[in-house]
Amino acid sequence: MTSIKKIIKIIITLQFACLPCLLFGQNTTVNSNIHKMVQAQTELIFDSLVTIRRDFHKYPELAEQEKRTSNKIATYLKSLGLEVHTGVGGYGVVGILRTNKEGKKVAWRADIDALASDHHDAVDFSSKNEGVRHICGHDIHATIGLGIANVLTSLKENLTGTVYFIFQPAEENWKGAKAMLNDGLLNIINPDEIYALHVAPMPEGVISTKARNPYADYKGIELTLKNTENNTELINYTKELLLNLQNVASDSKFWDNRNLLDPNIGLGNPNTIFKDYITVNSNITVKENEDEITVRAYLSAEKETQLDTLLNEIKQKFKASEYADQFLGGAFYYETSLVLNDAQLTSSTMASIAEIYGNNHVLPLYGAIPDGRGDDFSLFQREIPGVYFLMGASNFEKGIVSMPHSPNFAVDEDSIASGVNFFSSMIIERLK
Ligand SMILES: [Zn+2]
Ligand SMILES: [Zn+2]
Repeated sequence: MTSIKKIIKIIITLQFACLPCLLFGQNTTVNSNIHKMVQAQTELIFDSLVTIRRDFHKYPELAEQEKRTSNKIATYLKSLGLEVHTGVGGYGVVGILRTNKEGKKVAWRADIDALASDHHDAVDFSSKNEGVRHICGHDIHATIGLGIANVLTSLKENLTGTVYFIFQPAEENWKGAKAMLNDGLLNIINPDEIYALHVAPMPEGVISTKARNPYADYKGIELTLKNTENNTELINYTKELLLNLQNVASDSKFWDNRNLLDPNIGLGNPNTIFKDYITVNSNITVKENEDEITVRAYLSAEKETQLDTLLNEIKQKFKASEYADQFLGGAFYYETSLVLNDAQLTSSTMASIAEIYGNNHVLPLYGAIPDGRGDDFSLFQREIPGVYFLMGASNFEKGIVSMPHSPNFAVDEDSIASGVNFFSSMIIERLK
């Protein structure tokens, strides 16, 4: 090929290449017909999905008590004609969609439990179970999981391979994923890849994630000190030492979730303020007995290894201080396994969703979401490569902010349709 022909070929290729694919370094070929069928089916079932979500919302169940929720899920999956396994690791449910054609095996996981909360819920389908509420959005997750199962079942003739739907109990106490794995989940299913989502305080219609961990690392630190007469000064010194680790000013725009998507400082901008941060929960607890003082605090950091570095720095500072003799030790008393997104699967799934639904729905993530609870989906990711997505469910104009575990947690129910569309399409692309 002459060099002029080569240049012409490059120009033609660039003109017809999809922009998001270039952005994520991937060029996939998408059959738009099947994705139109996905959207048509989602539209058809949307109202019924909203009814299901409101039912889950009205009857929330705490971790390890999801009996009713689990029954509803199993009944729905059976009505689709799927092979259904119940009682997997407690109230876990597994649905299997077999196309009976050779192909990849892809798993979708949704968590189903709720949280203890006494706060008022400003919706007319508020919780009937006193003191329990869906303020982590698992009612939305479960509904989207059922919606994807419905959509993919309706398109079964056009698909190859196998899709597994995992409805996991007890995410909030981190027991569910482990219980399902220990109960032989991977003898029932044999996925090549696994995916999940969590609602996040970004606007509805936007999904985001990144390779490895999209969340801040979050750990509980415990410092043990010798109790002597000067304990008031010692406790004050320790508290100040911990609080001073925070590198975000109290009046920073960082603390307002609405800034997460700000074009200049939000997560989609390489210069985001949601990067390189360390935060310290001001609720530091102090316990004293005759001999020892125990000080506990929660820290979070955007960088994966930063909290380990900080723990060493704290030890060094104590050793160099006037309280060196009273410092008995420091360790993390609470830490979790971090979300571990497969880099290649992250870029190819983000690219295919962007290609099908548009670049404006897919946000490359710089920095990390300052929500430190993580997700025990990470335990599945230790066994099977996969991706954990963050899905916006906020609508700031309507005053809806989907910040998990916040008393005013709410979601824009349009996120159910977005979730079912995006991830049904994503799974279809992965099954190829
Ligand atoms: Zn939660
Ligand atoms: Zn959650």
